[in-house]
Amino acid sequence: MIKKKLLMLGNIMVMSLAVVIVFWSPSGVASENSILITNVKIFNGKSGDLIENHGVLIENNQIVKLVPDSEEADYKVVIDGKNGYLTPGLIDVHSHAVMGADQGDFFNGDPNYIQLFAAKEMDEMLMRGVTTIRDAGGNAFALKKAIDNGVVKGPRIYPSGAVISQYSGHADFRPSNPSRLPKEWGGPLAPGEAEGHVLIANGKDQVIAAVRQQLFLGATQIKLAVGGGVSSFTDPLYVNEYSDEEIKAAVEAAADYGTYIQVHVFNDIGTQRAIEAGAKTIEHGHLLSEETLKLMAKKDVFLSTQVQVLAQLKPLYTDPIRKWKLEQALKGMDNMFKMAKKHNVKVAFGTDLLFSYEGRKKQLHDLTLRKEWYDSSEIMIQATGNGGEVVGLTGLRNPYGKLGVIEEGAMADLLIYKVNPLEDVSIVEDYENNLQLIIKDGQIYKNTL
Ligand SMILES: [Zn+2]
Repeated sequence: MIKKKLLMLGNIMVMSLAVVIVFWSPSGVASENSILITNVKIFNGKSGDLIENHGVLIENNQIVKLVPDSEEADYKVVIDGKNGYLTPGLIDVHSHAVMGADQGDFFNGDPNYIQLFAAKEMDEMLMRGVTTIRDAGGNAFALKKAIDNGVVKGPRIYPSGAVISQYSGHADFRPSNPSRLPKEWGGPLAPGEAEGHVLIANGKDQVIAAVRQQLFLGATQIKLAVGGGVSSFTDPLYVNEYSDEEIKAAVEAAADYGTYIQVHVFNDIGTQRAIEAGAKTIEHGHLLSEETLKLMAKKDVFLSTQVQVLAQLKPLYTDPIRKWKLEQALKGMDNMFKMAKKHNVKVAFGTDLLFSYEGRKKQLHDLTLRKEWYDSSEIMIQATGNGGEVVGLTGLRNPYGKLGVIEEGAMADLLIYKVNPLEDVSIVEDYENNLQLIIKDGQIYKNTL
């Protein structure tokens, strides 16, 4: 009965998203439109110390406050958390929502198919407890709109739009063929350019135009490739892509729209250039030296890195160039994490999993793998509070509210696990058994309490 009522409330919430209506009774107690979640231990997304003897009051799609147990009798709609562990919804800051179908379909297939495939994956991702993703490249604009409008279920999406890259850069997927001229010289668009997944731009003016085009389409931040990458065929990881002038131009064009750039890069020089130009998050970074990681800590730049993707891509990348690059990145990973930890570089949880439905189902395994360098509560902070800070960098362009934390005024994205993820984060992987409640944007998507 209560569940039915809550689902009904959920529908009302959707209708009233634009207007946050808060009804207060004369005694100061929240009214019908609110839900109090009691009998939980609260992980607030920022500290490894659990908050006890409090419930969480949500109203519409926001967290109103933490309520001491002694006051819980004042509230009508109550969810009993059964002594579970309440956490913020998980945030994956390096996802490629539309890159789940296999490579052949992605590069040569019907673009409608990959969008339909992505819709199915987004539904499943939400049911894993991932309530927000930052899309690190790909045409996810329609998907974001469909999720926001309730057409399909899925996490909130912060889209970057096309990965902006130079010729012979990380997102240049033209076949290496001398007759395949650049588009400015009469050649065709690169695979993925027409569908909006990548965009090749050279020189300051083109880079500015490319950034503005993504903003026009609704990008909440910009993805720029400033160094070689594993998936591309022509650029070794040591390659630096884009000049200082080009990177700066991208940063400024994004900043004028209230937002920032995230950069794809593995090496030191590209990372240092991007940081000096004003980039806010470094994607990957597996070859970074201690010196560069120290610079990141000093400048408060986030390391948005991933553990599992390299091992997953290994069997797919059998050609000598990508195989070599992948091995290099794998070798650098341990040093990167050790130095990042030593210098307190802020790390967020991201996965970057590509082109394999089965592989992408293991999204949360990336959390477990981080136990080699971090304890479980540090990893949970990466996946919630730190992720919330990353998506919050979007600033004036942020379409949502505060995320990744359980505190007054944050968005009502929350989960309840029956066992403590701060003791062993790997329990999060078994979401079917351990995750009992999923609330995103004030709506209940799962409740087995
Ligand atoms: Zn990526």
